[in-house]
Amino acid sequence: MKFINGVTNYDEWRDHAKDYETYKQRMAVISEMLAKKERGEKLTFADEVRLVGQVVVSALTGKLEDFYSVSTSVLMNPCCQARARMDGCICKECYAANNVSRFGTLAQALETNYLILNNFIISPEAWETLAIPSINGKARTESHGDTASVVCAINHTRIVASHSWLVFGTWTKNLTHYKPVFEAEGKPDNMIFIASSPMTNIQMEIPEPMRPYVDHRFTVCEEEFAKAHGIQINCGTWKQDKLDHKCKNCMRCYDRFNTEFDIWELKK
Ligand code: SF4
Repeated sequence: MKFINGVTNYDEWRDHAKDYETYKQRMAVISEMLAKKERGEKLTFADEVRLVGQVVVSALTGKLEDFYSVSTSVLMNPCCQARARMDGCICKECYAANNVSRFGTLAQALETNYLILNNFIISPEAWETLAIPSINGKARTESHGDTASVVCAINHTRIVASHSWLVFGTWTKNLTHYKPVFEAEGKPDNMIFIASSPMTNIQMEIPEPMRPYVDHRFTVCEEEFAKAHGIQINCGTWKQDKLDHKCKNCMRCYDRFNTEFDIWELKK
């Protein structure tokens, strides 16, 4: 199976990056729980806590310096892979896919996170045991991927709700995955829910049932397009800005009182 941006065959590639002890330990726990699930056995709270113990929280760099995130692998995500083949879609030049293909331990962390978050619905009480560091009171979900399923959306929502002292930026192109959990459990007050437009220069259409939940719509556009259409680039990574081109110096997307709906980022 073909993947994107240099990783031409993920299964083959990860075969020679499999030898990390911690990765093997995480996979052993996940395999044990998947077998239990297949036998139709309900996971106990202790099982859930063991699974949460295998989730890797990433310390971010670059634009997201000083942020920590719970993410899953774009290389395993069928939604991301389908978009990566679409002309005009920003996923064709996915920075996360590039990073994952360069750093084996990151790839493995996102892979085991993907397996946990997409296969098991974990209780909020078990998610409370996940340690998420923070320097600035903010955190991210899916800084390196996207929500691949309704199950993943339930888990992300519960992670956010169970860490109420942090404000999370939750970007997604798959808005409707969150509909069942928002309807059943509510959207957490500490979640900033951001519709991430898949196409360059085109603001995504927000499905009607999701409109009440979306705090911002984030769209990447080209400089020429912005000039031609009088678009004000308001993302703090804008090069002409005096800021340090990092989220920590802008925080527009993490400010619960920011009422700007549309955020435009200049394509790099
Ligand atoms: S608007 Fe600010 S907080 Fe949002 S992505 Fe851009 S730099 Fe980061």
